Amino acid sequence: MATTTSGPIAPGTGDAVDPSRLDIATAERSLLARLASELGPEVVRTGALTRATYRRDASFLNAEPLGVALPRTRDELATVLRACRDTGVPFTPRAAGTGLAGGATPTGVGGRRPLVISVARMDRLIELDVENRRAWVEPGLVNARFGRAIAPHGLRFAPDPASQIAATLGGNVATNAGGIHVLTYGVMSQHVLAVELMDADGVVHLLDGRLGELDGIDVRALSVGGEGTLGIVVGALLRLLPAPPAFGTLLAGFPTLEDAAAAVGALVTGDRLPDAIELMDATAISLVEGYAQAGYPPDASAVLLVEFEGTPAGVAAGVEDAVAACMAHHAIEVTRAEDAERRARVWKGRKAIAGAIAQRMPDFFLQDVVVPRSRLGEMLTRTVEISRRERLEILNVVHAGDGNLHPFVLFDRREEGVLDRVMNAGRDLIASALELGGTITGEHGVGVEKRDFVGLVFDEATLDVQWRVRRAMEPSGLANPDKVLPTTVGCGEARLVPEGAWV
Ligand SMILES: Cc1cc2nc3c(=O)[nH]c(=O)nc-3n(C[C@H](O)[C@H](O)[C@H](O)COP(=O)(O)OP(=O)(O)OC[C@H]3O[C@@H](n4cnc5c(N)ncnc54)[C@H](O)[C@@H]3O)c2cc1C
Repeated sequence: MATTTSGPIAPGTGDAVDPSRLDIATAERSLLARLASELGPEVVRTGALTRATYRRDASFLNAEPLGVALPRTRDELATVLRACRDTGVPFTPRAAGTGLAGGATPTGVGGRRPLVISVARMDRLIELDVENRRAWVEPGLVNARFGRAIAPHGLRFAPDPASQIAATLGGNVATNAGGIHVLTYGVMSQHVLAVELMDADGVVHLLDGRLGELDGIDVRALSVGGEGTLGIVVGALLRLLPAPPAFGTLLAGFPTLEDAAAAVGALVTGDRLPDAIELMDATAISLVEGYAQAGYPPDASAVLLVEFEGTPAGVAAGVEDAVAACMAHHAIEVTRAEDAERRARVWKGRKAIAGAIAQRMPDFFLQDVVVPRSRLGEMLTRTVEISRRERLEILNVVHAGDGNLHPFVLFDRREEGVLDRVMNAGRDLIASALELGGTITGEHGVGVEKRDFVGLVFDEATLDVQWRVRRAMEPSGLANPDKVLPTTVGCGEARLVPEGAWV
């Protein structure tokens, strides 16, 4: 297995002092003193409560930040970044903190605690261009709020992560987020026309792809999915679509997981590809029903949520085909969400799963792996085996159309020794996905949690290219320095909880 020798980048040089010569304590003191004097406590906070609040994202990894900067404008952000540069203190970009891979967890490197820089207050819709169907947004604008703002103009933004009521568009750009409708619309990268990226010197670079075909290297594409390692996204130009005139949504219950997985195969190879196919297993169904009363069939071992969009006639034909495909694979019940209220309820169930889990267990570890669609049934069977072997309840929520599984491993961290079993389950899920020809992340990104597994996916040469691109785009080495790319790790050393992070 490949081992790369590329390493993190040395802290960059700033103005007067060479920051790499400062010891950590001096650098931290100097940074905080400068930020206090230039921006004050309204923007930079270091209290124990704030530091505790920003210890983690929605993953189970946490670490202590040096402090938290909450700039409201580009000027304030640039001031923060230059102070980091001049003192050599690393920074962790952050938005809503719904990331599930520890990307916004302030782990730091070499004992250097990072400053968390949250862009959540930079949240304006800057310009809506209805005629050309595009919009400039600030990074902190919440995905669902943006959707509500453009809806009256007959427009929609296709990427719809299940976290969209909280996740920001900047976070979506940074993680190249997917969502329920990626099956036909693709991930974030397909919907970002231009990115404004601020570097560690506080300079904004317009990475422009708005005219479609580019004459040079598409650096816009490189910046989507950078997970905060390439600079801070301060603006994005997003592609909008006309809102579809009609929807057709089905809820199908199956007697077994295997039947549901087989029905997915039939749906994706049929004449009319649905726009969304989601699968949930029996545990997920029962938890969601107790929490969101979405109307899922309580006796089913699995449900599929299938949706078509488009003209009324096209949607009706798709729905007929899908009903037939589900019945041919032993569906015990197929219902249609006939109106907007029922459709919203069906999807609310799917999007409420993380909240619903709290009824059963205080903690969960959410894995994100992908397998070829044709291996979905096998992966689900392996998940059941892992669950039995580790004596842990694992429930399955799957973006089934594109083979992206989200097994939730439920646990109570107060139970002696349970964390080791959770880690074993997490690693075995990754190993199974790789054995079945899949990969380690579908949409949640690499962050710090999957970083050491990246060496299992790419060979040394490919990793080296990625390091070189990163160095070229972010030469200071201060932006999320320990995230995404492994340093010297081979396959035997892969860990879900890297040094500097705690569960
Ligand atoms: C219940 C639940 C459901 C989810 N469902 C989905 C789903 O369906 N599809 C999906 O793709 N994801 C999903 N996620 C994961 C998460 O919501 C996405 O990764 C989302 O894009 C993160 O956005 P955020 O604003 O919370 O970013 P954060 O969590 O704050 O940050 C995520 C990463 O992006 C970086 N970052 C954030 N903002 C910037 C910026 N302006 N510039 C540079 N870097 C930045 C951070 O450093 C970090 O590495 C889900 C999460 C939860 C909790």
